[in-house]
Amino acid sequence: MLEDKDRIFLNLYGFGDWRLKGAQARGGWDNTKAIIDKGRDWVINEMKASGLRGRGGAGFPTGLKWSFMPKPDPARPSYLVVNADESEPGTCKDREILRNDPHLLIEGCLIASFAMQAHACYIYIRGEYRLEYARVQAAIEQAYAAKLVGKDNVHGWPFDIYVHHGAGAYICGEESALLESLEGKKGMPRMKPPFPANMGLYGHPTTVNNVESIAVAPAILRRGAAWFSSFGAENNKGTKLFCISGHVNRPCNVEEAMSIPFRELIDRHCGGIRGGWDNLLAVIPGGSSVPVVPAHEIADAAMDFDTLRNLKSALGTAAVIVMDKSTDIVRAITRISYFYKHESCGQCTPCREGTGWMWRVLTRMSEGRAQKREIDLLLEVSTEIEGHTICALGDAAAWPVQGLIRHFRHEIEKKIDDYAANPHSEPVAGLSAAAE
Ligand code: NAD
Ligand code: SF4
Repeated sequence: MLEDKDRIFLNLYGFGDWRLKGAQARGGWDNTKAIIDKGRDWVINEMKASGLRGRGGAGFPTGLKWSFMPKPDPARPSYLVVNADESEPGTCKDREILRNDPHLLIEGCLIASFAMQAHACYIYIRGEYRLEYARVQAAIEQAYAAKLVGKDNVHGWPFDIYVHHGAGAYICGEESALLESLEGKKGMPRMKPPFPANMGLYGHPTTVNNVESIAVAPAILRRGAAWFSSFGAENNKGTKLFCISGHVNRPCNVEEAMSIPFRELIDRHCGGIRGGWDNLLAVIPGGSSVPVVPAHEIADAAMDFDTLRNLKSALGTAAVIVMDKSTDIVRAITRISYFYKHESCGQCTPCREGTGWMWRVLTRMSEGRAQKREIDLLLEVSTEIEGHTICALGDAAAWPVQGLIRHFRHEIEKKIDDYAANPHSEPVAGLSAAAE
């Protein structure tokens, strides 16, 4: 359980002032030069020791990622790119940072860029985030005016920062598609490797980090790696923003200690499950791309990378989508399936063809107009998509389907039995209506 004194995001709900004065009153930009003066190696080692794992969803160790950046080479400048294209359904944590505490991010950008010897940073903000774009842009102007950033800033590390506003494509949140988009091209993922640290923006060494990963860096470096790693379980350290939506009494965004048990997270911050704990059906614990976990498995599970992976799901973006027993789980996953079909960039065949195929089969299944043997066929096709595509969108489309079949096959079979007993022609509202 996280005490108030240990929270990093002190203006998460926007009750305070988001501007420079407000940020400084909360401890932001406090002696940033002292951090820079300790040198690049100290910063990277401290980030490694903190145990911070990337907060964008994949959980790759942040300090390690920073250490991949090559030594400075005038012919190949290094860049920091902040992925603020937060688009995973259920996820709205970075939105609150951009909107309510943008200076945490800007200070983090300066320090991270220094650690990677980058003199320029680009923040790529989701197209729909208009207020957030305006806030971050205004906060950057405040930082320039106060000489906190810029070519001749008080910290002694020449540094420029730019904001790019996206145009609403989910796939531009995939880091290599984001780089393509920044370069002015169509946002389509690149093959990896090479990873951005070797060949990123304009072919130069680049680190792409999530907003939350960068925004926690100044607090880690000010308070120390030992403080940050005192929260959470082994290999799952620190404090974490959780976005809790769905059938809880009070949906919210909250900062908590990593590895907090699911039950404690919900009871403490959301006033419990709607209708009580016996009414819980299932939870998608990390944004729509991760497999659903049934109530009896998640109720007392620790909310962290390793525990949820052992449950064949993932922490992902920590967007916790709670579903009670009123949920038509087949229909819910069908709707998610439509999302991935719609957002596929169409570049590789298993994703382009497979996402549409899975959605069409699931739509029939939602209505009961299917045969039971098709459930195994659907599972088989999903495993053919998984791992056989250029980017993780293929996996993101396959995993929710696999989770549904693993835990709720009986619900699909029941729909098929009901339809066989009482054939009807009305489509399920909101699903077939979305057909091409
Ligand atoms: P990934 O595991 O391929 O990579 C994670 C990060 O580590 C990347 O920055 C990558 O460049 C780096 N990396 C990995 N291996 C490396 C290596 N050997 N050398 C150098 N760098 C290496 O995952 P991904 O495709 O970047 O992200 C997938 C995740 O994104 C999913 O888990 C999902 O939860 C999340 N996601 C988040 C959102 C959102 O809105 N925040 C949206 C969609 C998906
Ligand atoms: Fe595009 Fe899908 Fe292939 Fe990713 S997996 S590159 S979104 S077609």
